[in-house]
Amino acid sequence: MDISVVIPLYNEEESLPELTDWIRRVMLSNNFSYEIILVDDGSTDKSWKIIQDLKKSNEQISGIKFRRNYGKSAALNVGFAATQGDVVITMDADLQDSPDEIPELYDRIMNKGADLVSGWKQKRYDPLTKTLPTKLFNSVTRSVSGIDNLHDFNCGLKAYRKDVVKSIEVYGEMHRYIPVIAKWAGFKNIQEQVVQHYPRKYGTTKFGPGRFVKGFLDLMSIFFVGKFGKRPMHFFGPVGVVSFLIGFFITIYLICEKLMSIANGTVYRNVTDQPLFYLSLLAIMIGTQLFLTGFIAELLSRNSSERNKYHIESVI
Ligand code: UDP
Ligand code: MG
Repeated sequence: MDISVVIPLYNEEESLPELTDWIRRVMLSNNFSYEIILVDDGSTDKSWKIIQDLKKSNEQISGIKFRRNYGKSAALNVGFAATQGDVVITMDADLQDSPDEIPELYDRIMNKGADLVSGWKQKRYDPLTKTLPTKLFNSVTRSVSGIDNLHDFNCGLKAYRKDVVKSIEVYGEMHRYIPVIAKWAGFKNIQEQVVQHYPRKYGTTKFGPGRFVKGFLDLMSIFFVGKFGKRPMHFFGPVGVVSFLIGFFITIYLICEKLMSIANGTVYRNVTDQPLFYLSLLAIMIGTQLFLTGFIAELLSRNSSERNKYHIESVI
C-alpha cells in the first residue's frame, strides 16, 4: 500500500464527509493505493456514527474510537500503530489542511530521500493571538532542537517514512514535537513543504491558550529525556557536586576564620551573623539534593523497560 492517512479527530462531525471525499479524489486521480484511518478521540457528537456510515461507502476507510478523550498525541500514536502504507500522512480533521498536498509530500519521501516532511502554513488563517506566540514557540524549538530548517513544528499536515512512525512514540501532548522526537530517534532528513492553509470551516479549536505554557514545559521534558533520559546522573551529578563544593569550601573558610579570630583574640562574632553561613548551608543542601535526585533517577531508568531500547536501522 502506498499511503496511509491518519486523522485524529475530536468532535468534527461536519467536516468528515467532505474531508474523506476530498482525500479519495486526490488518491484516485494520482493512482495511489491508500487507507484512511480515522481516530475518534472520544468525540461526544455524531462523529463516530458518521465514520461508520462513511466506511460503508468507502472500504479504504477504517475507524478507531477511544472510549474517552485522551488527546491528539494519543490518537496519533494509536493511528500510527495501525498504518500499513509506505508513507504515512497525518492531517487535522477540520479541513484546515489540504489533501491536495499529498502527492508532493509522497514524492519527497519516496524520491527525494526525506524521512519526515513537515508542512509550513506560511500564510495562516488563524487569529493573531495564536500566530504570534506560535512564532516565538517555533524559534525556541528550532534553537533547542537544532532542527533549524523548520518554521512550523506543530503543523498537523506531515508525511513520514513508514520506519519513522513505527519507531517513535507520541504521548502526552508531544505531537507538537514529532520532528524533534524523530530527530532524537536518528532520522536525519527532515524537510519542510509550504502548504495551503484554510480557516476552520466548522466547529471550534480544541486547544485553548494554555497550549503555549504546556508546549514549553513539554519542550524542556523532551530535551531532557532525549539527552539525559538514559543517563540522568550526568545531568544532576555535576550541578549537584559543584553546588556542594561551593558550600563545602565556604564552610572551611568560615571555620578557619573562626579559629583565627579565637587565636588572635579579635572581636568575637557568631558564625550565624555571617551571610556566608546561610549561603553555604543552602549550597550544601541543594547540592546534596540534586545528587540524590540524580541517583534516584538513575535507579528509575535502570528499572525502565526502555533502558535497552535502541532504534536499529538495518542488520545484514
Ligand atoms: N484533536 C483530537 N483530540 C483532542 C484535540 C484535538 O484528536 O483532544 C484533533 C482535532 O479534532 C483536529 C486536530 O486534532 O483534527 C487539531 O485540532 P484543532 O484544529 O482544534 O487545533 P488547531 O488547528 O486550533 O491548532
Ligand atoms: Mg485546526
